[in-house]
Amino acid sequence: MTVITRIPPSPTGLMHIGTARTALYNWLYAKRHNGQMQFRIEDTDRARYAPEYVESIKDGLTWLGLTWDGPILSQFERRDRHAEIALEMLKAGKAYYCYCSPEELEEMREKAKAEGQVTFYDRRWRDADPATAPRDIKPVIRIKAPLSGESVVHDRVQGDVTVNNEQLDDFIILRSDGTPTYMLAVVVDDHDMGVTHVIRGDDHLNNTFRQNIIYEAMGWTIPVYAHLPLILGPDGAKLSKRHGATGVAEYANMGYLPEAMRNYLLRLGWSHGDDEIISTEQAIEWFDLDHVHRSPARFDFAKLENVNAHYIKEADNTRLVDLVVPFIEKKGIAVDTTGRARLLAGMDELKSRAKTLLQIADEGAFYCRSIPYDFDDKAKANLDKAILQTIRERLSGITEFTAANIEAACKDIANQNAEGKLGKVAMPLRAALTGTTVSPSIFHAAEILSRDEALKRLEFAVNLK
Ligand code: GLU
Repeated sequence: MTVITRIPPSPTGLMHIGTARTALYNWLYAKRHNGQMQFRIEDTDRARYAPEYVESIKDGLTWLGLTWDGPILSQFERRDRHAEIALEMLKAGKAYYCYCSPEELEEMREKAKAEGQVTFYDRRWRDADPATAPRDIKPVIRIKAPLSGESVVHDRVQGDVTVNNEQLDDFIILRSDGTPTYMLAVVVDDHDMGVTHVIRGDDHLNNTFRQNIIYEAMGWTIPVYAHLPLILGPDGAKLSKRHGATGVAEYANMGYLPEAMRNYLLRLGWSHGDDEIISTEQAIEWFDLDHVHRSPARFDFAKLENVNAHYIKEADNTRLVDLVVPFIEKKGIAVDTTGRARLLAGMDELKSRAKTLLQIADEGAFYCRSIPYDFDDKAKANLDKAILQTIRERLSGITEFTAANIEAACKDIANQNAEGKLGKVAMPLRAALTGTTVSPSIFHAAEILSRDEALKRLEFAVNLK
């Protein structure tokens, strides 16, 4: 049997971190078992549907490297097929037409409420004679749910979950306008796609009992279920905007690496002993449903940052340059080949300090600047013109423009002019060369900039009005 998992998001918003984790688990499970992950858009809610949400989900999956197999299916486009199955169940006596008017339903709802019943529909059309059907009402189709006994969902994460069948009503599968309900569409699609494993959020666990009624009515094989607990915010409340970024694109825009995100999301709800850093290759080998946690995970922003810092350190420098350049360009700084070469030369140091690509961009942007550039307020306050002039003279005399020689010259200047305090020399130098007060070792940075460029920048800073 080929394992087929699926990711069926509803495009009613930008791609959420919870969807990303669900997709990751489906993807890993499929990969682990040499199977497939299919991608279906649950776009039947036309009022909330927007194409940019579909794009956001596609972009999110692509960014995370979670590839899907086969074409992207649209649930909405499959509505005729869903209706066909509803009619098939009708013919087989597993479902029936219900002609209740909205008023009748309202009455039943009131009555059930007063009696404290969980379900309200009294099944009045289940065994009614079709000859008594009113002509002026377009019927819905309802499924025949079991009348007594219990239903069990064997869930790979939650264990066996049982409900009393009295809690399951004869729910609608086809509306009076001929459109399928979500419950029907999901089952028909999963069946037609050959889905063997349904790995999804546990907010769908209750739906599972209803969906199984359809599987049984059709004589279809029920998939393996694994319902994942929610992701909570650090305070234990459902993860929301108020805790911080919840959209996948936001993490990309803040400079997180996709492999860091994968590692972090993997650990957010699954574990392999005490391992924290788990490469994707390793995850594919190890991922299973037995070690998915049963209790909800809390999103830990600091931990995600640390995982990201780890992967940044591991990342190839040329790749990091490629990833960082757009962040620098977003600051309005054009990056040419010289800028790129300097970034590459400085990358070991930049990445050793960084938690995000954005931080590398902030601290490395000066490599790509050209005169005239701006100085931030702190940098301006550090532009000690007399010292800068001295530095400029000394640096122009250095033939081998290396970090060691530059540092030695600065130490000399500090001894002669600043009671040996190197900071009094290094800080103005940093401010002048970078326009900021935060950068990697300024001696090394100066070497990377080259003597010509460093001298030009010093002159520019000295002459600044
Ligand atoms: N469309 C549903 C959601 O986005 C997923 C349903 C399912 O996995 O069965 O929550």
